[in-house]
Amino acid sequence: MKTFDVYPLLDVEPVKASGCWLWDKAGNKYLDLYGGHAVISIGHTHPHYVKTIEEQLHKIGFYSNSVKIPIQDELSKKLGELSGYPDYNLFLCNSGAEANENALKLASFHNGRKKIIAFSKAFHGRTSLAVAATDNKSIVAPVNETENIVFLPFNDESALENAMNDSVCAVIIEGMQGVGGVQVPADSFLKKIKELCDKYNAVFILDEVQSGYGRSGKFFAHQFSGVKPDVITTAKGMGNGFPIGGVLISPKFVQKHFMLGTTFGGNHLACAAAIAVLDVIKNENLMMNAKAIGEYMMSVLKKITGVKEVRGRGLMIGVELEFPYEAVRNALIFTHRIFTGTAGKNIIRLLPPLTLSKEEAEIFLHAFAAVMKKSLVK
Ligand code: PLP
Repeated sequence: MKTFDVYPLLDVEPVKASGCWLWDKAGNKYLDLYGGHAVISIGHTHPHYVKTIEEQLHKIGFYSNSVKIPIQDELSKKLGELSGYPDYNLFLCNSGAEANENALKLASFHNGRKKIIAFSKAFHGRTSLAVAATDNKSIVAPVNETENIVFLPFNDESALENAMNDSVCAVIIEGMQGVGGVQVPADSFLKKIKELCDKYNAVFILDEVQSGYGRSGKFFAHQFSGVKPDVITTAKGMGNGFPIGGVLISPKFVQKHFMLGTTFGGNHLACAAAIAVLDVIKNENLMMNAKAIGEYMMSVLKKITGVKEVRGRGLMIGVELEFPYEAVRNALIFTHRIFTGTAGKNIIRLLPPLTLSKEEAEIFLHAFAAVMKKSLVK
């Protein structure tokens, strides 16, 4: 049997990692400004993380949700406190797609409706309803194009006003669009969604799968706007690479047995990993670091010739170039040995570990400036 070949892979094989660094088979060292799709929040192989998982593994690694698992309560309490949502409840699952799928189910149980409003260029993962929330047709299977989803222009308050009525089940939006090219929703737009959801008893779902977990400089990116959504979804940075997702649910939702379910969600090992992540984010002030280093990087990037626009918050940064990203990204990886992500045709997407130091940021900034200079000369 061979691996089903459905996504492009870089010709690099990491065999070791530490902090913001990776090493390949040949011993080459790479600076990781991508964190495996924004997953590495506290840095690779953080000692506290490794120790916590190891210790848990020696006690019990897994048992399904048919028994008491007190470590789930410990995780809920710590996440509630650090995120500023101590009164919300937590449903645990295994990925971002699953978190969004469960959020939509919950919304539909809540008001008995099925129409979902999402926004142009959004990405909410590859699942039935949630997967269709993108206008990138290459990743939407025909079966996922359901008539129950309406796509509206991003940040357009009047389009939203016109579309909202009492048949809408939920409005779903990312804290910052990731796959869509690091687009930040206006505070006033999030406030408008909240106002209209409250007016029509629709559920306001904030997808913080990519933009959450301290990456923006606040725990969740939407917290810059001051709105409180009904449901928040999270994954990626939550486990620093250990698969775990979560749905934070407002206390106004009724909890009934068999409403939602999972086999692996909230297992002992995943919870241990997620608790270690929260401990490190708190103890090492990583939200503050993300804010400071991110702001510094954005201020430098804006001044580089050939950069059209720099968007984002904290350590979620989109650098839109005046030309396609391929040559720049390849030179960064294969000449300077720096991993970055991309979006669209012209955007370099930076999603480094939140531990990124000023010195590490400088390594990237110098390399990027040199590569851009060379690309413009050609
Ligand atoms: N939501 C957002 C905003 C994402 O960026 C992603 C993945 O990139 C997902 C959901 C899906 O997460 P997962 O790949 O863990 O299913």
